[in-house]
Formats: sequence, structure tokens, C-alpha cells
Amino acid sequence: MSIDRTPTPKRVLGRAIVRGFGGRCPACGRGAIIRGYISPVATCTACTENLGRYQTADFAPYIVTFIVGLLFTPLAFVLSLDEALGDWALYATISAALLTAILLLPRTKGAAIGLLWALDVPNT
Ligand SMILES: [Zn+2]
Repeated sequence: MSIDRTPTPKRVLGRAIVRGFGGRCPACGRGAIIRGYISPVATCTACTENLGRYQTADFAPYIVTFIVGLLFTPLAFVLSLDEALGDWALYATISAALLTAILLLPRTKGAAIGLLWALDVPNT
């Protein structure tokens, strides 16, 4: 029986999350981590890191919902109190919230994959 003495690459949490948020592989920072809008890749094209082991499920939508709700709910409430603004301010706030959610979702998905990769928490 032999012991595998192959050194494992160092997994830095902050760097992995930032790389994932940028849509890059948390291991090498070069390969794409997301294909299309939100589909995670199984293997990094640059370093062949097995990223398919890290399934984030609904974690990214939860984070996006939390951030968008935290930012835009108080804003919509305050804007609705001022009758002089009319409905356009509320419509603009809702549009901004939707746009923010659409832009954040794939980035948050990448950051979640980076988090799981850095902590080495594969889906079992
Ligand atoms: Zn890679």
C-alpha cells in the first residue's frame, strides 16, 4: 500500500471567491467557471481542475435575493412615501432591482463555487 504524497494546491478562500465572482476558475484564475448564463463547467479548460464536484444548488439565488432585498426594499419604501415623485420612481427602483439581480446571479454562482472549492466541500 502506497501513500499519495502529491502536494495539494493551496486553497486561499478570498482569492478563490474573487476569482469565482469574476467568472474564473478558483484554482488557476484563467479558465472560465460558468458556461452560458449560469451553467457551471465540470472541468476547468485551463488547469483541468474538477469543478463539477462543487454543486452550489440554490445558494447563489439566496445570496442575490438577500442583497437585492437589503438594498432595494428600504429604497422602494422611502420613495413610496413621497407622493410628489409619482409612480416612476417606484418603477425605476423595481427595474434597477431586477437588473441588479440579473447581473449578480452568475457572479454570485461563481463566487459560491469558489467558496466550496476553497473549503473543499464537494457534493457527496
Ligand atoms: Zn483552472
